[in-house]
Amino acid sequence: MSGIVIAIDGPAGTGKSTVSREVARRLGLAYFDTGATYRVATVWCMREGVSFDNHSDVTAMIETMNVELILDPNNPRFTLEGEDVSAMIRTDEVALSVSRVATNLDARAALGRFQREVIAGERTGGFSGGKGIVAEGRDITTVIAPDAELRVLMTADDEVRVARRAGEGADVATVREAVLGRDKKDATVVNFQTAADGVVTLDTTDLTIDEAVNAVIALAHEVQS
Ligand code: C5P
Repeated sequence: MSGIVIAIDGPAGTGKSTVSREVARRLGLAYFDTGATYRVATVWCMREGVSFDNHSDVTAMIETMNVELILDPNNPRFTLEGEDVSAMIRTDEVALSVSRVATNLDARAALGRFQREVIAGERTGGFSGGKGIVAEGRDITTVIAPDAELRVLMTADDEVRVARRAGEGADVATVREAVLGRDKKDATVVNFQTAADGVVTLDTTDLTIDEAVNAVIALAHEVQS
């Protein structure tokens, strides 16, 4: 039997990463944060001095990028050229530049191929031993894994999303740009704000993390029964 694929998308601050990770942990699945692949690509270009304006160079960099993903929901990690960059990819500097990669359509295609391979690998083996994967990111339900057994779009009110991220300790103006500004840029190339056919919307504005996790697990049981 082939493992389950749970695809979760939605904008920043909806709880998508936390919920996806916890669902993976409880169901014994791999956890794949596809946004991290965009962030690693951003670090790689900055390091190698490649201009984000040069779309074909950025794409070529991604095609030869030596990245390793550890899909363990208890400790997800990313290495670039053998170096652990898991903390570095979360810096404001990277968050404010990542849309430059994400709005490059050739770069998206290259990262998309890579992401599909990772997801397919977990249906039959990989970290989960073939149990499956929870994959999250803005175009996962529509472009990368439209064939996933369960597809969920997480939403939440704008101000709630900014407040959640600001609560993590950063300066509010930076957070506002990193959340709402980034959505605006990203929305020029992917639709992650309305649910496509067959995608379940989960509004987390008034939900705790635990309630959102339980809601996704209940949906997963439904599609498996
Ligand atoms: O989810 P996270 O905030 O880490 O994503 C970082 C960036 O990667 C997003 O702002 C977006 O530009 C890009 N991204 C994307 N498609 C995905 C995942 C992330 O365009 N599937």
